[in-house]
Amino acid sequence: MKRIGIMTSGGDAPGMNAAVRAVARKAITEGLEVYGINYGFAGLVAGDIFKMEAATVSDMISRGGTMLFSARYPEFAQEETQLKGIAQLNKFGIDALVVIGGDGSYHGALRLTEHGYNAIGLPGTIDNDIPYTDFTIGFDTAVNTALDAIDKLSDTAASHERTFVVEVMGRGAGDIALWAGVAGGAADVIIPEHDFDVEAVAAKLKSSRERGQKHAIIVLAEGVMHADEFAAKLNQYGDFQTRATVLGHVQRGGSPTAKDRVLASKMGAYAVELLMQGKGGLAIGIQNNQLVNHAMTDLFNSKHETELSLYKLAEDLSY
Ligand code: ATP
Repeated sequence: MKRIGIMTSGGDAPGMNAAVRAVARKAITEGLEVYGINYGFAGLVAGDIFKMEAATVSDMISRGGTMLFSARYPEFAQEETQLKGIAQLNKFGIDALVVIGGDGSYHGALRLTEHGYNAIGLPGTIDNDIPYTDFTIGFDTAVNTALDAIDKLSDTAASHERTFVVEVMGRGAGDIALWAGVAGGAADVIIPEHDFDVEAVAAKLKSSRERGQKHAIIVLAEGVMHADEFAAKLNQYGDFQTRATVLGHVQRGGSPTAKDRVLASKMGAYAVELLMQGKGGLAIGIQNNQLVNHAMTDLFNSKHETELSLYKLAEDLSY
């Protein structure tokens, strides 16, 4: 193996650049040549590929977004399109790849491995919804962005004795809501992985108000329902001066936290080591603070496990 390619694919996440940097620098340190592939699988098929030097990734570790851009390109599920991508790999002499993205991107990476071009996947998504990893690249930054907003909303909630329903991202996963909720001292956290009862939430708010706690933050995962809808349901059980706030895409941007930068750096360097061992079709994760790799096919049959003990903790501490 002499040349490796790197791409970012699917939704962007803070720390993707730190991962690109780690892959490029580790590969160059090991005497390999590195090629950046812009716009994920779309750029691969279009031949939007360029040689990277160590300096190409200078100052990238602190930047959010992805310097390699990203794109949704469902056409890559077709074999005919994959073969066009393979033709580009041959043209540029790329033997192996690192793909940074979510599980959709892993499907594309596995197809390339099956065609004889080893690909290793790195979990780049704020949602933390990838199996066999405790954390994904971008999750910690997104939690901290949500937490910063929650802290600010708490100030205004306290001043006007209001209840804020704060909708955070996460699609089907409640991880951002749980972490931001526990860290932000939320009165309740509503996630798709746990049932909830709006009447019980209202009863809890009422008893808190009677004890003198007249403002509250409820953190709602987007996969449950919209913040406006939840606020309307809550208002059926009393007047809590409710306001709904949707944090939205602000959670996808920003300079990555130290935790995300270190995670991305560790995973990026490990991906290069695995490629140098001639391995492919593997997804990297971190479990109990140890780097791990699993067959991508195992991931497709598994579901990420949300740390539900945090739900109980949020309940116990919000009394
Ligand atoms: P996120 O979790 O942020 O959505 P993702 O990687 O899951 O990231 P997707 O849009 O599902 O995002 O997938 C990214 C890209 O991977 C797709 O646009 C497509 O190019 C490729 N891809 C997805 N599924 C397949 C598949 N079954 N076969 C080949 N390529 C695929």
